[in-house]
Amino acid sequence: MCVGCRQRAQAAELVRVVAQQREDATVLVADPAKTMPGRGAWLHARAECISVATRRRAFAAALRTPGLTADPDDLAEQLGVITH
Ligand SMILES: [Zn+2]
Repeated sequence: MCVGCRQRAQAAELVRVVAQQREDATVLVADPAKTMPGRGAWLHARAECISVATRRRAFAAALRTPGLTADPDDLAEQLGVITH
């Protein structure tokens, strides 16, 4: 299921992102190979889904990381999504 639009989709249609601990923050990192360890969140590589998921704080909930910093522009860039 996409954490943005919440529609069911096959894994092949979605991209995986994981939370990664950095020195000063927990950030979202795209996992294009879908092999990174830990809990993953799945979404469409679409600007709307990134935007909605960020607004709803869906990444923090899906990844069970309340302190997660989700930057939609950064994520869009990582996923190669054009937002402008
Ligand atoms: Zn979606």
